[in-house]
Amino acid sequence: MKALRYQGTRDVRIETVPDPAIVDARDMILKVTSCAICGSDLHLYDGLIPTLLKGDILGHEFMGEVVEVGREVRSVKPGDRVVVPFNISCGDCFFCKRELWSLCDRSNPNAALASKQFGYAPAGLFGYSHMFGGYPGGQAEYVRVPFADINHVKIESDLSDEQVLFIGDIFATGFMAVDVCGVQPGDVVAVWGCGPVGLFALRSAKMLGAERVVAIDRFPERLDLAKMKCDAITIDYEKTDVLDALKELTSGRGPDICIDAVGMEAHGHGLEFWYDRAKQAVGLQPDRPTVLRQAVMACRKGGTVSVPGVYGGHIDHFPFGAAFNKGLTLKMGQTHTHHYAPALLKRIESREIDPSFVVTHRLHLEEAPKGYDIFQNKKEGCIKVVLKP
Ligand SMILES: [Zn+2]
Ligand SMILES: [Zn+2]
Repeated sequence: MKALRYQGTRDVRIETVPDPAIVDARDMILKVTSCAICGSDLHLYDGLIPTLLKGDILGHEFMGEVVEVGREVRSVKPGDRVVVPFNISCGDCFFCKRELWSLCDRSNPNAALASKQFGYAPAGLFGYSHMFGGYPGGQAEYVRVPFADINHVKIESDLSDEQVLFIGDIFATGFMAVDVCGVQPGDVVAVWGCGPVGLFALRSAKMLGAERVVAIDRFPERLDLAKMKCDAITIDYEKTDVLDALKELTSGRGPDICIDAVGMEAHGHGLEFWYDRAKQAVGLQPDRPTVLRQAVMACRKGGTVSVPGVYGGHIDHFPFGAAFNKGLTLKMGQTHTHHYAPALLKRIESREIDPSFVVTHRLHLEEAPKGYDIFQNKKEGCIKVVLKP
């Protein structure tokens, strides 16, 4: 089959590899009908995630048709159309039983590698380095899905792939980022980063009852989409002082909820940004927390800072004193996709939202390297790339 393989920093290629096979009785094999490039794939692309090796197949946002199941699989059969959550869960461990799906204790065969980095290992992820299990990803014609009974959401309506694909990652991620903050009527929610996750966080905040949502970015096309599709007030951080603007919008009090939908490769300006960038470049600090610092500073006293953006290592100059003295609540983590995806599918089926509004580029799988380049460099107004094998 054809699959997208990592070669080295900013070098990915489509190559021919052996088809995946059932290796455990609980596996299924999926023929991928659509897959997407996620913002977090760009951290892999940029060579910032340790234990990613040359030849690894990327991709964790995908869906398709079941073509084969292991003999212990009960709830899916060949011919079924499914979306697959990006994190792999067993359904039966301490964490899965508590609906902490992204923290599954049994789906990461390389738990020792991740434990060294994090203390304990989170769940395995498709196409996301060996520290997260070394599973081949779904930017391919076929993919093996472990624990098939648990790791799927069946699509039984005639909704298009583009309408349902994102419940497996970015829509669920944006939604959880807001949901864990317990939005109250009248709340102001500020979101840094208007990529797909940020846009879904803005839409979700509105769905969950926020009075006003504020979008912070520097790309006009992203801010336009946030305004048009998410009814957001927009701030261009290159033209306006973000903290001042947020204060002004909230009668000097600050937003109730601040969401960092950017993560470890934040852009910014000023001395602090260049300091982070220089430290990241020489490997002294893997993450650039420009946005996180700003979110903590901007958040109102007693408010909540939520972090769906990916971090992988250590950060420096974190304003912990501000977080402590303002009594902030911090929420973060990989999405518990299995918990959110079925409920989000219902919202899509009832036409409350059509998530395909984020898609700007539709390419053939063979064009995936070009897709990474335009997404990484924000060429052609790129917001979301969907690939069709
Ligand atoms: Zn993702
Ligand atoms: Zn589990």
